[in-house]
Amino acid sequence: MSGNDSSGRSRTRPAAWNRRALLGAAALGGAVTALPGQGSTAAGPAAYRRISCEEAFTTAEIVEASRAVAHGVPSMRSGPIAGPILPPLLDVGAGRIADMDAAGVDIQILSLTAPGVQHLEKGLAVALMRSTNDYIAATIRAHPTRYTGLAVMAPQDPAATAVELDRAVRTLGLRGGIINSHTAGEYLDEPKFWPMLEAAQALDVPIYLHPRDPAPDLSGSMLPGFAVGWGYGVEVGTHVLRLIGAGVLDRFPRLRIVIGHMGETIPVLLDRIDNRYLWETGLFNRPRLARLPSEYFRTHFWVTTSGMNYPAPLVATIAQLGIDRVIFAADYPLESERDAVREMNAMPIADEDKRKICDTNPALVFGLDRGLPGSTKQEP
Ligand code: MN
Repeated sequence: MSGNDSSGRSRTRPAAWNRRALLGAAALGGAVTALPGQGSTAAGPAAYRRISCEEAFTTAEIVEASRAVAHGVPSMRSGPIAGPILPPLLDVGAGRIADMDAAGVDIQILSLTAPGVQHLEKGLAVALMRSTNDYIAATIRAHPTRYTGLAVMAPQDPAATAVELDRAVRTLGLRGGIINSHTAGEYLDEPKFWPMLEAAQALDVPIYLHPRDPAPDLSGSMLPGFAVGWGYGVEVGTHVLRLIGAGVLDRFPRLRIVIGHMGETIPVLLDRIDNRYLWETGLFNRPRLARLPSEYFRTHFWVTTSGMNYPAPLVATIAQLGIDRVIFAADYPLESERDAVREMNAMPIADEDKRKICDTNPALVFGLDRGLPGSTKQEP
């Protein structure tokens, strides 16, 4: 895990990323109009809001509970309970807003840092889910033009979480919920978790499916240093395919799911997934889904740029999913929000597409203009 500075991070673009590569990508469906630094809005105030939608915080109570289960040993499995990342995670006041101002971020969609409360005992997880949602709501009330948020969810108790999601959205004004992938190695294709999905669909809010340390079966194969850069994508990508493969999205046809990190590698694999799904099910005469895997993905999923504000993956993802499916995020404070904005400003896409990624798309998917304080826009 890196700190929130840009030291040691190479920002040099690969030599292969030249004009011809960009124009070739544009021909696949992107709207490439300018090379980095040409025609970008980096220099001045943008003509649109910049909404950053996967921005993490924690609380002293969550840290204390995590330290207890981790026996005081700093562990990514229990969240960043120590180290330089902790102070900015705990700060939802002046320091964070100063960082947002420096980066040029108008609104952060706050979410409790991974693994949420999913590593805690059920009763404690449910209690902390409720109190942390109240804390998010109070934080938004203190800075109503700068923050909105996603509800903590505790899959250890799906029924209580469904009730709490309703309260968090309809009473507290939160814009959806967040689940940090597996809970004790179990995924949302298990029917026992479905009351939470049913609640999200009924409330017409998205669920953000965020990574955490890979489940035990996956994490055992990770080399040191690759748990995040590779393991998080494998973990959530696997989760996505489990949802598709189990028919969960036939059961909840209006469910919206947001995933980070430019789609956790799924967008670039979509064609191969379809192709080999048809081959494999045909070869072994297995029952097929009502739709192709890619059709479920393109219908139910939106992807954010958290931790992945790099031009090649962005252009590829737009080509695969269309511009309406991509949303800006930084992953503050685990990533530098300032670097993320600078990268987005320099992306080789049209300014109109940047407006969709940073403003229009998150506003629609998270329903931000349904009474968001400070908004002058009409309800979508
Ligand atoms: Mn994150």
